[in-house]
Amino acid sequence: MSKPFFKKVLVANRGEIAVRIMQTLQELGITPVAVSSDPDLQAEHVRIADEVIYLPGQKPGETYLQGEKIIALAKERGVEAVHPGYGFLSENAAFAKACAEAGLVFIGPKPEVIRDMGDKIIAKNLMKQTGVPVVPGWSGDSETDFSEIQHQADAIGYPILVKAAAGGGGKGMRLVHNAGELEAAFSAAAREAQNAFGDARVFLEKYITQPRHIEFQIFGDQHGNVVHLFERECSIQRRHQKIIEETPSPALTPELRAQMGEAAVRAAQAMGYTNAGTVEFILGPDGSFYFLEVNTRLQVEHPVTEMTVHQDLVRLQLQVAAGLPLPFKQDDLKQDGHAIECRLYAEDPARNFMPGIGKLDFFRPPVGPSIRLDSGVREGSEVTVHYDPMLAKLIVWGKDRQAALEKMSWALSRFAILGVANNVEFLKAIIDHPQFQLGQVHTHFLEEHPIAANTGPVPDEALLVAGLSSQILKQRVGATGLREQETQAMGGNREWTGSPWAHGGAWRQLTCQK
Ligand code: ADP
Ligand code: ADP
Ligand code: MG
Repeated sequence: MSKPFFKKVLVANRGEIAVRIMQTLQELGITPVAVSSDPDLQAEHVRIADEVIYLPGQKPGETYLQGEKIIALAKERGVEAVHPGYGFLSENAAFAKACAEAGLVFIGPKPEVIRDMGDKIIAKNLMKQTGVPVVPGWSGDSETDFSEIQHQADAIGYPILVKAAAGGGGKGMRLVHNAGELEAAFSAAAREAQNAFGDARVFLEKYITQPRHIEFQIFGDQHGNVVHLFERECSIQRRHQKIIEETPSPALTPELRAQMGEAAVRAAQAMGYTNAGTVEFILGPDGSFYFLEVNTRLQVEHPVTEMTVHQDLVRLQLQVAAGLPLPFKQDDLKQDGHAIECRLYAEDPARNFMPGIGKLDFFRPPVGPSIRLDSGVREGSEVTVHYDPMLAKLIVWGKDRQAALEKMSWALSRFAILGVANNVEFLKAIIDHPQFQLGQVHTHFLEEHPIAANTGPVPDEALLVAGLSSQILKQRVGATGLREQETQAMGGNREWTGSPWAHGGAWRQLTCQK
C-alpha cells in the first residue's frame, strides 16, 4: 500500500458523508476519528469509526457545530487533519483558520477563500472582474434608500430573485414577480437571512426562467495546478434543493462544456483555489450561462463525478491537503459513460414531504454491477428529527445515459425500505418520466409535473426483496398476482392511504412469521 498522507484524521460530520470519507481513510490505512452527538451514538458513522469523540447534546449548535471543542479534543487524540464533509463547519472560515492555528490540517481551501466565496456578493464581484459571466443584478449596502432599490429592480426587469449574501441550502431566497411585491420580499428575505445566517444582507438578481443548474467540479493543489472534472446537471430540485443529479449533462454540447469548464477553471485560478470545490452556473434555455456561486467543499453529488472520471475525490482531497501535486493534468481527464445519483430522503412525498422518523425495520438496497450506495443508515437504524433527512444516495453508472436510466429505474424498484417514510417511489417516478427520459429538465420540473401526489404504493419487487416470505414469491401468478397475496397477508385490508408505510405494521408481522 502507498504511504498514508496522514496517520489520524478527524471527520467533523455525521451521516452518509462521514461514512463515505471514513471508508477512503480506512482504505488508505489512516485512522478515522468520528464525532458523535447523543442521538448518534448508535449511528453508522460512529459504528464504523476506529475512534469516537463524544459531543454531549442533541442540537447541532451543542454538538457538530462546536468548532473550538472539536479542535481541542482532536488535539488530545493526536489527530493531524480534519475533514469537514459538507454542511456543518465545512464552509466556516473561522473554523478552518482555528484548525490551522491549532496545528491541524483543514482539508479544504484556505480560510480567506472560504470567507470570500461564502459571501455571494464578493464572489460575484470577483467573477465579474475575471470575465466570468454573472447574472445581471444589483447589490448595495443597508443604507441604500428603498426608492433606489426599486429603481435598480426596474432596470434589471422582473421577475427578480432576492438572495441572501450569506445564503446556502436554498435558504434566504424570494421570487418577486412585480414591483408591488419587492418591498415585502426584500424585508422577508433579509429577516430569514438574519435568522439563518446571522447576516441580513441581501441582493437582487434577474430571475432566469426555466433554467438548468449546471455545476463544475474544480480541484486545485498547492503548486498552482487547477483543473475541472467536468459538470454535474442538478436541475431536479425541490425548494432549491437538489434531488437527482447526473453527469454528463444532456444539455451540454462539447463546445459549451469546454467554455463552461474553462470559465470554472478561470474562476478557481482567480481565487487561488486549493482542494475540492464546485463552481455553480445557471444555464438559460438560450444556452447562455451565468455564475451562481462557489461551494468551497466536497459536494453531496460528488459520486457521479467519481464514477465517470474514475477518481476518488476524498483521496485527492487528502493528497492535496498533504501538499502533494494533483496526479493528473486537464488533458488526462475524460468523461467515461454516464452516472446518476438519487438522494434518498426520509420524507413522504404523498403527504407534502412530511418528515419520516422511526426505526428502519427493513433497509435492503439493491446490489449489482455499477450500483453504489452511500448510506448513513443501516437496517435497524433510528431516524430522528434532529438532523438532515437525507438517509443515503443511490448512484448508478451506465455506458450511456439510456443504460444509466434503465439501471437506476431497476435499482429503485428493488430498493426495499419499511418503517420510515421515504421518497424511493417518488424518485422512480421522476426517473421514469418521459420528459426526464428525454433529458428535458429545468429547475421547475417538479412544479410543472405533479409527480409527488401521484406516487403510489411500494413496488411488488421491492417488497419481495424485503424478504416477504418465499411462499408469496412461489404463489405469485402474473403481474397482479402479488397484490392479491399481499392483500390476504394483510388481513384483507386493501386500502392504501397513499403511503405504503402506513401498512408497515402488517408487513412487520408478516415477516416475523417467515
Ligand atoms: P450541494 O450543493 O452539495 O448539493 P446542498 O445545498 O444540498 O449542497 O447542501 C448540502 C448540505 O449542507 C445540506 O445538508 C444543507 O442543509 C447544508 N448547507 C448548505 N449550505 C449551508 C449553509 N450556508 N448553512 C448551513 N447549512 C448549509
Ligand atoms: P444556495 O447557496 O442556496 O445553493 P444558489 O445561488 O446556488 O443558492 O441557488 C440555489 C438554486 O436557486 C439554484 O440551483 C437555482 O435553482 C435557483 N436560482 C438561484 N439563482 C437563480 C436565478 N438568478 N434565476 C433562477 N434561478 C435561480
Ligand atoms: Mg447553490
